[in-house]
Amino acid sequence: MSDIQLVDAPAGVEGAGFFATSLDKVIGIARSNSLWPLPFATSCCGIEFMATMASHYDLARFGAERISFSPRQADLLMVMGTIAKKMAPVLRQVYLQMAEPRWVMAVGACASSGGIFDTYSVLQGIDEVIPVDVYVPGCPPRPEAIIDGFINIQQLVQTESLRRRNEPKYQELLAKYGIQ
Ligand code: SF4
Repeated sequence: MSDIQLVDAPAGVEGAGFFATSLDKVIGIARSNSLWPLPFATSCCGIEFMATMASHYDLARFGAERISFSPRQADLLMVMGTIAKKMAPVLRQVYLQMAEPRWVMAVGACASSGGIFDTYSVLQGIDEVIPVDVYVPGCPPRPEAIIDGFINIQQLVQTESLRRRNEPKYQELLAKYGIQ
């Protein structure tokens, strides 16, 4: 005879149940405070990222001091700079090489919309080739704006269910970009 007893979820707790929702929260807090960013910097906005990482602004305060230059060991892709159409397949490949869960931040006008480079050779926003979670405006955005974007990513990570990556809605988003 088993000693395990099944109990109902406490009043007011619905859906996934008390254990699953609490686990979501704990893992969300842990993940959001230990993100490993991969800086994909192609031009001027990358300089602002260097300032954001340096001692004055110190992104390490948010648990993101471990910068990764390997997509295999990163969970936040930070795209900073003008992305030429010839560079787009490379950016997409880097994204595809990152394991789930992964998040993407478009830093600055160029990465978000092409910025001032409204021309045939420049991608008019990285969301033409990969999904984006947070956009940071500015040309270039100041370090404070990049930190604000990072905090938005943290909030997203904290509130995201562990199961979101398996949900049909997320799978549909990936399918829209031709990602299996
Ligand atoms: S948004 Fe402005 S500062 Fe950033 S890469 Fe484009 S032109 Fe340079």
